[in-house]
Amino acid sequence: MGYLQNVKENLQKNSSSFDQIFFQAVFEVLDSLEPILQSDKVYEEFGVLERLVVPDREVKFKVSWFDDSNKVQVNTGYRIQFNNALGPYKGGLRFHPSVNSSILKFLGFEQIFKNSLTGLMMGGAKGGSDFDPKGKSTSEVMKFCTAYMTELHKYIGPRVDIPAGDIGVGPREIGFLFGEYKKITSRYEGIITGKPYMFGGSLLRPEATGYGVVYFADELLRFENKEPFKDKICCVSGSGNVAIYTIEKLQSFGAIVVSCSDSKGTIYDSRGLDINLLKDIKFHKRASLEEYVLTHSSAIYTKVEDYPDGAHEVWTIPCYGAFPCATQNELNINDARNLIENGCQIVVEGANMPSTPEAIELFLQEQIIFAPAKAANAGGVAVSNFEMSQNAALQRWDMDKVDESLRTTMKSICKRVYLTSKDYGVDGNYVDGANIAAFKRVAEAMIAEGI
Ligand code: GLU
Repeated sequence: MGYLQNVKENLQKNSSSFDQIFFQAVFEVLDSLEPILQSDKVYEEFGVLERLVVPDREVKFKVSWFDDSNKVQVNTGYRIQFNNALGPYKGGLRFHPSVNSSILKFLGFEQIFKNSLTGLMMGGAKGGSDFDPKGKSTSEVMKFCTAYMTELHKYIGPRVDIPAGDIGVGPREIGFLFGEYKKITSRYEGIITGKPYMFGGSLLRPEATGYGVVYFADELLRFENKEPFKDKICCVSGSGNVAIYTIEKLQSFGAIVVSCSDSKGTIYDSRGLDINLLKDIKFHKRASLEEYVLTHSSAIYTKVEDYPDGAHEVWTIPCYGAFPCATQNELNINDARNLIENGCQIVVEGANMPSTPEAIELFLQEQIIFAPAKAANAGGVAVSNFEMSQNAALQRWDMDKVDESLRTTMKSICKRVYLTSKDYGVDGNYVDGANIAAFKRVAEAMIAEGI
């Protein structure tokens, strides 16, 4: 049996059957590595794959707190420190009821490669909790964050592990987490990124993932000799931080972005979305997208219950560019078929692993330009790294410097992924291009650092 197959089988044998989504992320990477493993036996000799698929450390802890009616609530907290070959562990925290160790392992694993692609010094990690901030009062969110940090602070540090935000963790949660760390340790240091600007956050960090997605996509269209986004219809899913700033940047590039969604439904506004209204509904009111049609009666709101069978409304809308920016496995094979039938030319992942393996296979087969998340959404973590640099030096970068550095980073990731796909004979397959380019950097460090 080949090396690759062996590693896969051992992983399945030694993991729980609940690890399906983790396997999905791992197998996608491993399958891309076939050409590089064939040509160079050094990876097998140093056991790189079997070491890479097991996290360095998985921390799981109890988080108990009082809710507003003085009832004790108990949640589970996690931090998966996956790999620190390239730098201190780095990756976000997700607070969502779906969170479990398999989801965090998939996200932590992906993060190793995403961080590698930035070319910066960061290892991969992910953490979070099954706590749901939705519907909680600010005081409940604060009490939860405080209790969570009481345990987490033992495992993090500016040169050890630097968490950040993800789904359910924004500037408010980051502020509470940072404040508690400071109280426990008396240290004012860059232990978390995505902080509000007033206490050490970087300009453009909130916008970075979404803006980076569009910088990456724009560059990829140039490499592919395809028309830019100006005057093109684009569809975005989601309405969180990544979705909203993807929409904003697409609009500044002249695209007409007609859709977005949340857990309850989809908005279709053929005239182009009103970005200020979206920000007001989602960032200030934390309300449902249904509110959009109250002031924009020509827009159409479709509830999740009314979606066509096995497909998502947002991907039934004809578009030039599709930007899944909601969550994992949100774009399935039926959605992929609908997009292709309706003439979609490019799919760019803003969320982490939003397309199912079957959907990706179809896009590649039909020669739709497909930009995988690890490459396309690396702008967020790149600007997190800029935040770390600013904190370490007790300095601030101005807007132009951050934006310029973000753009340069996204362009260079795009170039590396594009050239790697050519070098390894998989032209146009940016899944393989991204995985191989990212793997090489991590693997070389792992070999050089010894077993
Ligand atoms: N959660 C984000 C991601 O998926 C950001 C991580 C970070 O800034 O550390 O990349």
